[in-house]
Amino acid sequence: MDFGLKGKRALVCASSKGLGRGCAEALAGEGVNLVINARTKADVEKTAQDIRDTHGVEVVAVAADVTTEEGRAALLEACGEIDILVNNAGGPPPGVWTDWDREDFIKALDANMLTPIALIKALVPGMMDRGWGRVVNITSRSVKSPLSALGLSNSARAGLTGYVAGTSRQIADKGVTMNNLLPGSHSTDRIDSLDANNAKSWGVSVEEAAARRKAGNPMKRDGTAEEFGAACAFLCSQQAAFMTGQNILLDGGEFNSTL
Ligand code: NAP
Repeated sequence: MDFGLKGKRALVCASSKGLGRGCAEALAGEGVNLVINARTKADVEKTAQDIRDTHGVEVVAVAADVTTEEGRAALLEACGEIDILVNNAGGPPPGVWTDWDREDFIKALDANMLTPIALIKALVPGMMDRGWGRVVNITSRSVKSPLSALGLSNSARAGLTGYVAGTSRQIADKGVTMNNLLPGSHSTDRIDSLDANNAKSWGVSVEEAAARRKAGNPMKRDGTAEEFGAACAFLCSQQAAFMTGQNILLDGGEFNSTL
């Protein structure tokens, strides 16, 4: 299916690896030109070259921390007119509720709630003026089903979800859609580090911790960045134009509910 995105321009944040890269690759596969980003210069430049070589699209690589004001300024300077914004950043560290104080919450809110909101505020007005735009926020299944060790993430992402619910309706008549993608366990560096954390607290090997986690999923496996990216590209497609303010769970059916 042709998603009708050829020649569009996307900013995909935090995208040298993992789910962000999956989204960047899938959009590039649809002929979308990209601005990609990560903090590690060598990684983001290598990913940019790989995507140029594979898909033949324009890719600008920006090495910056998207959760800082300076980082976002550098990104926006490289952007020009952006049609598609994919918000993403690393997730907050795991822990226990008694570990977290005000500064930890401020950091998590900055990274996983206020950073996407700042980029939405910077880029959506241009999309509205041009009458077409897509925003996809990578959040987490923890929005629907909390992961106890990820209280900082649960809190910050719930805040972003509330913001998107209202704001998506305010911009809907200008051709701009805004949706959240909620990853369950996907095979990336992030899940490896969560497995290592579980292994430590359960007193088992990392392999055993990963096996226990996968056993709890109806598909008995993790998702892939490619599968995740394909869902992102669909949300950005012309075909998804009537879909906004939604929270799409990609978790292999792990969240057990009828509706
Ligand atoms: P990942 O494999 O660790 O990849 C993170 C990517 O983001 C890397 O390219 C990293 O590069 C970049 N990055 C991290 N922090 C950044 C920052 N402050 N500024 C710019 N770039 C940054 O992570 P992932 O698994 O793809 O996860 C993406 C998001 O989904 C995270 O918020 C995670 O918590 C959430 N999530 C993931 C899963 C899962 O199973 N994978 C499940 C639920 C939610 P640099 O390190 O070089 O900056």
